[in-house]
Order: sequence, then structure tokens, then C-alpha cells
Amino acid sequence: MKWIFDLTFEQLKEEITAAGIKKFTAAQIFQWLYEKNIQDINAWSNIGKTTHAALAKQYDTTLNKIIAKKEDHAGAKKILFQLSDGNRIESVLISEKDHYTFCISTQVGCALNCRFCATGRMGFKRNLSPGEILSQVLCLQKEIPGYTGKLNIVLMGMGEPLLNYENLKLALEIITSEKGIGISPRNITLSTAGILEKIRRFEKDFPRVKISFSLNAPENVLREALMPISRKEKLPDILEYFKATAADRKHRITFEYVLIKGVNDSLDHARLTSNLLRGIPCKINLIPFNPNGSIGFETPDPGDVEIFSDYLHSKGYTVITRWSKGRDIKSACGQLAAEE
Ligand code: SAH
Repeated sequence: MKWIFDLTFEQLKEEITAAGIKKFTAAQIFQWLYEKNIQDINAWSNIGKTTHAALAKQYDTTLNKIIAKKEDHAGAKKILFQLSDGNRIESVLISEKDHYTFCISTQVGCALNCRFCATGRMGFKRNLSPGEILSQVLCLQKEIPGYTGKLNIVLMGMGEPLLNYENLKLALEIITSEKGIGISPRNITLSTAGILEKIRRFEKDFPRVKISFSLNAPENVLREALMPISRKEKLPDILEYFKATAADRKHRITFEYVLIKGVNDSLDHARLTSNLLRGIPCKINLIPFNPNGSIGFETPDPGDVEIFSDYLHSKGYTVITRWSKGRDIKSACGQLAAEE
């Protein structure tokens, strides 16, 4: 039996017509699965009983199993999933003032081994399939039944999204398509540690999806120490690309900066950051380090965070400080490790 969420619309259409089912049924199936978010084949009322039986024989339509949910007081809910091979991933539902944000994973574990991140310490297990990525959205939607307001999706959960490019692309096609889940690409943000070739490609494939780049240090030596990937993917090259392509971009790049006490949170670091980003239309997102057992890393003092933020602000930057929600349930940035 095939897991239906891994099929594109075209693949589904081809397969069902080969099985003698009318072509237009594919659109109906997509509507039930993704728009109505109802996966029980027998409830698909505009499709006949014989077709129900044929579909049930060919396709598995069950979503990933949720094995734990944890909610904090600030409005973050962490969902732990068990995949069909026993691996585990996490998604986070964040309730904001006027909308919800879904934080979605793209890999089991992560290969990048950023020193301050709990997912990095798990190592890399495997890529998620297209269905395993997009079905997180369906499961989170079920947590807020009846809600029709604004939704944001952030690809900031476990993994480096751009290192699972093909599957992510297929998932995003269904997530953003009118035939599929129908979420506007403008409400989606991809966060990356910076794989330049893939950023370039992604911006061609999904020009309206926003890009967040995890800067985390204002020069490459410190960045290499924190994020081994920057030995290969050099900061100046990435920034040069953002500068050169700024005019083609419909949104500003967000630079995420995890502030770590005594490591990258001084006024000097703020000065370097300001000089570095000069000329790039951007926003800066400061994330005070979320504790996760990383040895030798601590959350900075709120006063130092303010000095850092005020300095950048005084230089004309838009700065948002994200004292993450969900810290007490280990669902904030850098805390996802799929532990129960
Ligand atoms: N691999 C992608 C997306 C996952 S991480 C990326 O690197 O962007 C999402 C964000 O969380 C990144 O900006 C990362 O730098 C940040 N982050 C990781 N560990 C953190 C921690 N312990 N505290 C605060 N932010 C952290």
C-alpha cells in the first residue's frame, strides 16, 4: 500500500486512471485530504462506494501518529510524532496575538552540528519524505479546529530544509497550491544555516517564500567555530549574494542571530554586525540562547540583549528580539530533539 501523502497531484491522477477510476476523482481526493483535512476514505461523500473500496485497497491515508503533546503557558504546543519507521520528529504550534504559527521539521536530526543546537547533537538520521513534511501542517490544523484566520508556516523545526531540497519542494507545492492546502507562499518562511547554491535555487522556485538566514556571528572565524557549515559555505559569499539580488527580492531577508552570553553578544559584535549588513534590505531577529544542555553556552543577561538590540536599532535596523515561547517545554529554537 502506498502512503497517499507522498504523491503529487499528477502522480495520483495517473495512478487512479490506470486503476480505472475517473480522472476528475483526483481533484476530489485532494480536496478531502488537504482542503477539508478529512482522511477517512469512507467519509468522502461525493465519491462512490466502489471507488472508496478501490482507493482503500491501494492507499494508506492515515496521518503520522502523535505520541505526545506538551503545552506551555505562553501559547506554544509541542507535538511529537512517530513516523512509520519508528523515527521521531517534532512540530510546534505557536499561538500569537492575531494568528498561529506552525513550526515544521524537514529532517530527522540534522547534519550541520551547530554547537548551540540540540537537534545537531542528535546527528543526522534521514530526510523526511514530502508527505512527512506536509502532513505536519494537516496535523497542526487539527489542533485548532474551525480556525480560518491567518496562518504562518516557518520551516525552522528539526533539520536544514535546503539539504532536503527535492522533498521540500514537493511538499511546498502541495502546501501552497490551491488544489492542496492553499497556504500563501507569502506566509511561509524558510530558515537556513546557508547553503548558497540551494538558496539561489529556492528563490527561483519559490520567489514569494521569505528567507531567514541564521547569521549568528558577524565574521567567519567565530561563525566557523559555532557553525561548522560555514567552513564550506563562506559568510562573505552568502552576504554578497543577498546584496546583489536585493532588487529582485519582494521581501527583506531576515537575519537570525542567536545571542550567546560571552560568545557573540558584546557591543563590538553588534558594531560588526551593523557594518556587515549595511546595504542589505533586512530585518534582524535576535534570539537569546535557549538552554538545551549545550556545554558552555548560556543565555545572555536581558540588559546585554537590550544594549545589542538598541545599538542596531540606532543604526537604522529593524530589530526584533524573540525571547522564545515554549522554553519551559523545550519547544523553542534549538531545543527540538524529539525526546518524550
Ligand atoms: N537549520 C535551519 C533551521 C533550524 S534552526 C537554520 O539553521 O536556520 C532555527 C533557528 O534556531 C536558527 O536560526 C538557529 O540558529 C536557532 N537556534 C538553534 N539553536 C538555538 C538555541 N539553543 N537557542 C536559540 N536559537 C537557536
